[in-house]
Amino acid sequence: MGWASPNSLCPSTRRKHADRLTAMEQVLTLVCQLQPTNDEAWHIDATLQAFAEACTYIHATMPLRIVNVMRMQAMLYYDVRGRFGLSSNLAQQAFRRVSGSRKSAQAHGHEVKAFEPTSIQYDQRIFSFIARDWHVSLTLLHGRVHLALRLGNYQRGKLKGHQPTSAQLCQHAAGSYAIHIQVKEPLPPPQTPTEVLGVDLGRTDIAHTSDGAHWDGGAIRRCRDHYVRMRAGLQRKASKGTRSTRRRCRQLLDRLSGHERRLQRHTNHVIAKTLVETAQAKPSALALEDLTGIRQRINQQPRGTTERRRGNSWAFFQLRQFVTYKAALAGVALYLVPAAYTSQMCHRCLHLGSRQGKRFACDHCGYTGDADCNAAQNIKILGEQVSLPRGPWVHSFWSGEPSGLLESP
Ligand SMILES: [Zn+2]
Repeated sequence: MGWASPNSLCPSTRRKHADRLTAMEQVLTLVCQLQPTNDEAWHIDATLQAFAEACTYIHATMPLRIVNVMRMQAMLYYDVRGRFGLSSNLAQQAFRRVSGSRKSAQAHGHEVKAFEPTSIQYDQRIFSFIARDWHVSLTLLHGRVHLALRLGNYQRGKLKGHQPTSAQLCQHAAGSYAIHIQVKEPLPPPQTPTEVLGVDLGRTDIAHTSDGAHWDGGAIRRCRDHYVRMRAGLQRKASKGTRSTRRRCRQLLDRLSGHERRLQRHTNHVIAKTLVETAQAKPSALALEDLTGIRQRINQQPRGTTERRRGNSWAFFQLRQFVTYKAALAGVALYLVPAAYTSQMCHRCLHLGSRQGKRFACDHCGYTGDADCNAAQNIKILGEQVSLPRGPWVHSFWSGEPSGLLESP
């Protein structure tokens, strides 16, 4: 796993489902709450602190151009171990963290940010899961410690019978600790789809399928508007009030961002699950737009607000990731189709139409209807092209003509 942003509160939370997909298995990350005693919590804090200080020290001492882990270790390994009291493997993880941060900073053209005491990656030499009493064993600053887990049925089910070999120790908020356990799930054999379910994500609706099911996102929008108003008020207050008022406002702001994020996450899970279950029941394949490189493509042209939101919003990115991994686990085929013209093309006659807000109108055949529904139909048609070359009614190709994007025979 890389370390895209080790400075944020909990780097792997956002990547929880950015899971590695291999041919036969998928890596799921299970977030499990830890229940440390006061003493154990003190040890965890001390370890996180020492780890962050070690990273900061390595970064400050090592010339910036060096990004290779082995070269860093060759120069500073004993120094770091002696100075911060880290075990051999924890010290190696610190070098890896600094190396990862430097590589990611170079790739994205920004500076390495400060190392916060919020997470440590563990491998099988310093982490193990004990299934018999739902504990984990972790190497901390002062030796190996057994920590109790607080698990729900979902986590127990996923952990049963597994011997995970890597995990990440995280501090979610002051005094709240979790271990993100990486579990390898075998994938079922893929289904043979008989049809394709087109799904349009994130235009006006959160999701719209070619069957007509849709989620309009009203609840999320209302929640977001509510928080936007509340935040504005709090920020005004935080900039004016006394010192303690300002602090309390900041704490409240932190909590609020969590509420909004959790509602969004929950909604995305529910939508993704419904989509995958619908597809599994038929059985059909899911088709989504291929948004790879869409930012670069879009940024070359003027963009509307919806397009901007669609391209840049993490919420839709998260929904796509949820659909991807849930589909893989259910054996549902997932096709990514070219995103160009799915919103402008008429699904009845395949000519360019025009959309105004939520309405789509085709001048060629006279079709009018819901714009998202039309886009979902187009995605379905394109998915059928990918999957069932002889099945569907369109035996066509990309003609490149502005008026007839796909040509019917
Ligand atoms: Zn038409």
